[in-house]
Amino acid sequence: MLKIQDYRPQPFIDFTKAENVQAYEAALKKVRAELVGKHYPMVIDGERVDTAEKLTSLNPCDTSEVVGTTAKATIEDAERALQGAWKAFETWKTWDMDARARILLKASAKLKERRLEACALMSIEVGKNYAEADVEVAEAIDFLEYYARSAMKYSGFGSSETTWFEGEENGLMSLPLGVGVSISPWNFPCAIFVGMLAAPIVVGNCVIAKPAEDSGLIAGFIADIMYEAGLPAGVLQFLPGVGKDVGEYLTTHAKTRFITFTGSRAVGLHINEVAAKVQPGQKWIKKVVLELGGKDGMIVDETADLEVAITAAVQGAFGFNGQKCSAMSRLIVVDAVYDDVVNGFVERAGKLKMGTGEENANVTAVVNQMSFDKIKGYLELAPQEGKVLLGGEAPGECNGKQGYYIQATIVGDVKRDARMAQEEIFGPVISVIRAKDWQDALDIANSTEYGLTGGVCSRDRARLEQARQELEVGNLYFNRKITGAIVGVQPFGGYNMSGTDSKAGGPDYLAYFMQLKTVTERW
Ligand code: NDP
Repeated sequence: MLKIQDYRPQPFIDFTKAENVQAYEAALKKVRAELVGKHYPMVIDGERVDTAEKLTSLNPCDTSEVVGTTAKATIEDAERALQGAWKAFETWKTWDMDARARILLKASAKLKERRLEACALMSIEVGKNYAEADVEVAEAIDFLEYYARSAMKYSGFGSSETTWFEGEENGLMSLPLGVGVSISPWNFPCAIFVGMLAAPIVVGNCVIAKPAEDSGLIAGFIADIMYEAGLPAGVLQFLPGVGKDVGEYLTTHAKTRFITFTGSRAVGLHINEVAAKVQPGQKWIKKVVLELGGKDGMIVDETADLEVAITAAVQGAFGFNGQKCSAMSRLIVVDAVYDDVVNGFVERAGKLKMGTGEENANVTAVVNQMSFDKIKGYLELAPQEGKVLLGGEAPGECNGKQGYYIQATIVGDVKRDARMAQEEIFGPVISVIRAKDWQDALDIANSTEYGLTGGVCSRDRARLEQARQELEVGNLYFNRKITGAIVGVQPFGGYNMSGTDSKAGGPDYLAYFMQLKTVTERW
């Protein structure tokens, strides 16, 4: 019997050990030989289907290199995938919960075997360094293991408790919804892609998975693992394509039962709007799960261990170049320790090395031209909105390689309502904001429309308790970095404009993909 109590998160690989670095380098070689240059077609109803047009995935750290290609789904392909998934649903929904869970566990076993390959592919396709890639693949494995085990509580009649009533049997059944579309981002192209398809599938739904254009290869690699693990035809339709075309078509479609989306606030809100409009022939209100952006702040007060705070700031700000929804993009420091914290932060961040993911650099290239241009715009704004204390340039090349390179940048004395303090930049550009005192710092932290992650470095117990109640964030961290949530340990998801707070990797996440039926029988 599968039990959630038996779930344990994957340990991370220790890259201070030479043998682990060598193993990673060997995986990079293998991936270069076997996966780079590969083409992934769509998979519809268990068949590999190709398109005349293709989507190209570039190495962001060396844009002269094409990492590979995927098919580019058309509207007709999306329609076929939707119809086929509904057909597959008729059978898939009748499978026992543990039989479905077993497929997730088998996929997890396969991903464990190919862990370093998945990591290496992400180093090349999106520029993750070794530790960032490893933490992500560990998270993908955790999602499979955790959701397989959490599904057990929804198995069978009476799965949720009801109160006893004389003369009757009463109980709740948890039933899958039907066919949904899962639209994922490029920044966690393995873990989020896996999590967003595995959760609905394990409880009996069928999913059309549309990966982000910039990370189609790792998505194809993961989809193959799911098929090898035994997912029947049509349960997972792999549909690489353009968000504005097939994504829009599917989120609007009358036959789409649910949507799970992780990405930007703008696209997420748009999806929410189109999904709310009932189409001719539509029989249900679509369920929409949204995980959106952030403008995450960490407060440092005068009681804090400044060494702990500085380490937390560097890790939280610059891990994967700040391209995490959870990244610390605002450092809020009370006046009494402002200079000490900022000097330490600038000094430590100044030691970060720029280079490629394959070289295991600390700061690599950002994902694509659009992102590069957008971040450059903020670098131009920086001297008007604060003092540039570190970086500030977008060289666009490193060690002779053309790529989307942006320097680790720290901007001091940014005003709380400046654009740089309010808008998600999604790159290695950090605003430091000076607060008068603790209460002012808390007010600043709560002054954006987002509410994803946040943190406090302080040794004052009363302040930590106040922050526990008052900081409007879905994930709050004390005296550590504000990134790196672990499945099952720190259920993840944001408040306010950061999303529907659905808490991926949490005990109730699967419930989003089910409907309940209460059944009463009079004895
Ligand atoms: P985007 O919103 O640009 O894209 C996300 C996905 O939506 C992509 O697959 C994209 O396809 C697709 N898409 C684009 N337009 C539409 C449309 N009209 N209809 C349907 N789908 C569409 O986000 P990014 O990929 O740039 O990801 C970064 C963002 O994700 C950041 O804002 C970050 O904060 C957020 N994020 C949030 C997380 C959370 O848990 N809260 C976790 C990780 C990231 P295509 O690639 O073809 O454009």
